[in-house]
Amino acid sequence: MPDLLQIGGITDTMRDRLAEHFTIHKLSESAYPADAITHIATNGHDGVPADVMAACPNLKMVSCYGVGYDAIDTKAAAECGILVTHTPDVLNAEVASTTILLMLASFRNFLHDEAHARSGDWEKGGAPLSRSADNRRVGILGLGRIGQAIADKLEAFNAEIHYHTRTKKDVPYTYHASLTEMASAVEVLICITPGGPSTHRIVNEEVMNALGPEGTLINVSRGSVVDESAMVQALQDGRLGYAALDVFEAEPKIPDALKSMSNVVLLPHVGSATHETRAAMGALVVDNLIAHLTTDKVHTPVPETAHLNG
Ligand code: NDP
Repeated sequence: MPDLLQIGGITDTMRDRLAEHFTIHKLSESAYPADAITHIATNGHDGVPADVMAACPNLKMVSCYGVGYDAIDTKAAAECGILVTHTPDVLNAEVASTTILLMLASFRNFLHDEAHARSGDWEKGGAPLSRSADNRRVGILGLGRIGQAIADKLEAFNAEIHYHTRTKKDVPYTYHASLTEMASAVEVLICITPGGPSTHRIVNEEVMNALGPEGTLINVSRGSVVDESAMVQALQDGRLGYAALDVFEAEPKIPDALKSMSNVVLLPHVGSATHETRAAMGALVVDNLIAHLTTDKVHTPVPETAHLNG
């Protein structure tokens, strides 16, 4: 059987299916037969370390659990003829739901109200009023598969949708070629682009100032997309009103300053983290590996290596 290197964790279901086709070696084990490795199963967080890619001369394919693959050097992979796959689409609805959850938690002060009810403080007096999540002007930074799913779910809240991407899309929303211009036109800015150099700290001080003291920044993309220390400063100064965040620059570390702010909602990168969606992602990771083994053609290559498919 061909040799597969496992980077990071996999579920029992994934392991059982993979074990029928591959001999599995774990990167965490001290020695793995680098020369024999033809396939890698990894995830969007761990990626493939450069020394591992370089150490495996017969590597043919990398299957990534997650749609974001900025932790994998796909340029280097393409140059070595290594096909890389990811798990698009199967998580769109879930990440969109997480985004709505963050928006509702921030606007409706849900977490504070819940704590108020649970603590018994209600007996001493009612909870303060919150902000309505309906009828808001919402700017989506990155209107791709997940961005569109977010826009669809926002329809139920009668949102006025704006978006910023590098290329204008054929959609009935207001396009802004400038991110700063969009930030000044909306009340909520939702980040859902890929990570990597082209989006590194694209949400900078100027963008946050444009969003303003009543503005809400929601980040479900990558921590690298937002200038985190500028965001902390803007929230402390009152130049930015609110933040609701699923991702962080140095996650799982979250700046202490954010943890102490009552106008901030924090999640531990759980955008796609339900049993159902994670199972679908795991199935696609394995489907891609088996398809490559048996047909040489995978289901969901990343664009940078799609020319190697089949
Ligand atoms: P897509 O590739 O379908 O969409 C990406 C969108 O971002 C496109 O509209 C693209 O448009 C836009 N974009 C890319 N680069 C830039 C840029 N430099 N400036 C402005 N817009 C840009 O990706 P998905 O929707 O499937 O996923 C998006 C990202 O969401 C993932 O890469 C991942 O980082 C993140 N994610 C986070 C999760 C979480 O748990 N929090 C879970 C899943 C995904 P254009 O090319 O025209 O610019």
